Amino acid sequence: MKEETYPFVMRALPYEPYELAPCISAESTLYHHDRLYKAYVDQLNAALADYPVLQGLSLKELLERPENLPESLRTSVVRYGGGVYGHELFFDSMQPFSQEQDPKGSLLEAIIQEFGSLRDFRERMKEVAMNQFASGYAWLVLGQDGTLRITTTANQDVPDLKRVIPILNVDVWEHSYYLQYQDRRGDYLNAWHRVINWRKVARRYEEGLEEVRKNRLLRGEAGPEGAGEKFLFLGEPQEEFARTEFVFVP
Ligand code: MN
Repeated sequence: MKEETYPFVMRALPYEPYELAPCISAESTLYHHDRLYKAYVDQLNAALADYPVLQGLSLKELLERPENLPESLRTSVVRYGGGVYGHELFFDSMQPFSQEQDPKGSLLEAIIQEFGSLRDFRERMKEVAMNQFASGYAWLVLGQDGTLRITTTANQDVPDLKRVIPILNVDVWEHSYYLQYQDRRGDYLNAWHRVINWRKVARRYEEGLEEVRKNRLLRGEAGPEGAGEKFLFLGEPQEEFARTEFVFVP
């Protein structure tokens, strides 16, 4: 599927705003999605309007290498493009409270392997999100070594998309919870865990593993003898390939 490019279009919520309640109120979701997220989409488009040459790039391509963008555009892409990316993953990773579920299958196995148990994962994610000072996000990402890890970013920054594949995130800007929880970020995080759409996270995990395998093939690290030689070198800096550990998931 071709990735979206400029002009970026605001994505509709995949549920009704009131369906996250009581975990996240309809008022919070509407305000967050219809006003704040929309503002990021509009501001990203406004910033790109003067750069026709870059309008064919996907959001991921724009965010992967901000250092390659014109200096006059870079801050806007990091700030507004990051805001679009972070909010789209956040809203798309939730589902109606009535469908509350736990992760299962290979994703659950990976969570247990990395964090000990589902409960430990939830506590760790909460702890990391609590410790993100001021505004930002906590993320569950898949590394290019095929393992899960938790990371945080400040402001509207995204993790290094050249190195990791985000599969879940939680917005910890006060605007995500203040209307309902005031300063009780911990209560908001506990509630957020109950509206995670684990089916979608699992799909991103499986697709992420495919991408990791493909990248590994492209680097000539796996597959039939010499398979890597058939592919063109994609111009990645060499140090990014200086990885020796890889957990192969058949
Ligand atoms: Mn937000």
